[in-house]
Amino acid sequence: MVLDISKLINNDGASINISSEIVMDSLLFNGQDICFNSPLHLKGDIRSVNGLMYLQLSCSVSYKTRCSRCLDPVDEELDFNIKEVFSKTELENENDDVIILNSNEIDLKEIAEQAFCCALPITCLCSEDCKGLCSSCGCNLNTETCSCETDDIDPRLAALKDFLK
Ligand SMILES: [Zn+2]
Ligand SMILES: [Zn+2]
Repeated sequence: MVLDISKLINNDGASINISSEIVMDSLLFNGQDICFNSPLHLKGDIRSVNGLMYLQLSCSVSYKTRCSRCLDPVDEELDFNIKEVFSKTELENENDDVIILNSNEIDLKEIAEQAFCCALPITCLCSEDCKGLCSSCGCNLNTETCSCETDDIDPRLAALKDFLK
């Protein structure tokens, strides 16, 4: 979705309300395969103040990924905010936080995709106590038991094992 910001340029105080849905493409980020279950909902505005344009959006989306331990599919929801500042002209003082536009259009999909990736948790678990996969035979320890002897046992489990003796 592309936002036309022509009417904000040289028009201090002007704003555009944004309430929209963007259909996102599947993506791979940080080793996580992400498929979107819903369009990304975004709501907010962009405002022209002293020659700069301030974009503020709150976003929500539901997506499917895989558990970082057992690789089972997991449905997740993510709410996040977007805050960006744009300028149509190069600034006198260089400022990395300001995005310089070379047209009168802002690609909201691209901005939303970047913000989604930044907000994405590094790991995703199907449940807090997911047992993961056996490091020897690869079976899913949530649903199967195997007879592998593992030396690289989780230290917390090792403590429990000693306690049970
Ligand atoms: Zn899991
Ligand atoms: Zn095993």
